[in-house]
Amino acid sequence: MSHFTERVVSQVHVADHPLVRHRLGLLRHKQTPCPQFRSLVYEIAQYLFYEAVRDLRTQPVIIPTPLADCPGEVIAERVGLIPVLRAGLGMADAMLDAMPEAAVWHLGLYRDHQTLKPVTYYNRLPADHGLDVALVIDPMLATGGSAIAAVDILKSARVPRVKFVGLIAAPEGVSAMQSAHPDVPLYLAAIDSHLNEIGYIVPGLGDAGDRQFGTC
Ligand code: URA
Repeated sequence: MSHFTERVVSQVHVADHPLVRHRLGLLRHKQTPCPQFRSLVYEIAQYLFYEAVRDLRTQPVIIPTPLADCPGEVIAERVGLIPVLRAGLGMADAMLDAMPEAAVWHLGLYRDHQTLKPVTYYNRLPADHGLDVALVIDPMLATGGSAIAAVDILKSARVPRVKFVGLIAAPEGVSAMQSAHPDVPLYLAAIDSHLNEIGYIVPGLGDAGDRQFGTC
């Protein structure tokens, strides 16, 4: 029996744990200060990460305990964390603490405020990466433009399995991702009501980058 409760709609996994829902409320609150906001991002991201890598392949090993040998397992796949700069950084820290051997490839994508389309300004993904799984990390899945562009880049680099991990999505972003990349599962803490006219998720939490880094 799984200890993890979630709502799953095809490839969309929305965490339904009371501790996540509790933390999400604190995260959204406009008076939550920046240091607490960062801690909440960290805690929710680590929880989502455990779920997102639930299907990792392991290899059997023998572990010598102080008393006897016993069967154990080690992770047998190489994982890449792909934080979309800059808002994905706090989530990536949480995931790297949970899995220090993961590779981290920063991807610089910003949203042009006029067109709302993604523009790539930093991409140093190595050609011979050897990854089995890559996680695109962006707290807010708004129009889906950046997430789709990030997955495009990873698929062009022939990463066999790509997943997306975010905190809050707009229905518009979920639909866009599912149309562009139906094979990419989404791991989220919430799906909100809609996008406003300037592409912000409502009710959302405001600007995830500004709130993590105190630039609001
Ligand atoms: N990016 C954010 O930080 N917040 C939103 O609501 C949408 C995109």
